[in-house]
Amino acid sequence: MSKVFSVAIDGPVGAGKSCVAKKVAERLNAAYLDTGAMYRAVGLYMLENGVSLEDGAAIAENAGKARVDVRYEGREQRTYLNGRDVTGELRRPEVSLASSAVAKVHAVREALVNRQRELARGISLVMDGRDIGTVVFPNAEMKIFMTADPEVRARRRYDELLAKGDSVSLEEIWANIVARDKADMTRAISPLRQADDAVVLDNSHMTVEEQMTWFMERFDRIACGR
Ligand code: C5P
Repeated sequence: MSKVFSVAIDGPVGAGKSCVAKKVAERLNAAYLDTGAMYRAVGLYMLENGVSLEDGAAIAENAGKARVDVRYEGREQRTYLNGRDVTGELRRPEVSLASSAVAKVHAVREALVNRQRELARGISLVMDGRDIGTVVFPNAEMKIFMTADPEVRARRRYDELLAKGDSVSLEEIWANIVARDKADMTRAISPLRQADDAVVLDNSHMTVEEQMTWFMERFDRIACGR
């Protein structure tokens, strides 16, 4: 494997991509990029500025005004919207729905994909999202399509928000997941789908450690050309 490599991890909402991607990046001494946070930041911009999430033309028109940046504190990604650190605001359910709405719009995807490729230039990177293996890095050295049963995914997202002190119901999370999965899989541009050469990891019944072992075995095989 070349010295600089990229690992693409795609999959539906709440499949546990970011948790494993972060750990993998640390293990491989690579950077980690959460591309979902970038779509969330654009969604937040539209919410804050009263742009209708039903109006693709208005989103496209305003897309250029939402400047999204990513910086790192140690290994921790911080996401900036027009110079403001919005990391703590991005996981709210309404921002989640807004992110799926803006993700349908060509102008938004084009700007963010370009930015993601720029951020990756010359460095080893583990990225997670929906279109990393299919669009952003079709030549990634390793592609994983990570998934889990919808009930497991809803419960994980619920526990995550609860731990942060957010008051949400499991029903709300479930509805949010179903709506976003549908939007992500049926949109015309870069829909969520498994790349032909991606390996599927269904982690419904796996611990994080088991997933890491699974991952490292495959990575080592690729690195050794086996
Ligand atoms: O991964 P996360 O749930 O944070 O992503 C938020 C939303 O951003 C997704 O529901 C999806 O609509 C969009 N997204 C995308 N392409 C990516 C990453 C996220 O369309 N690469």
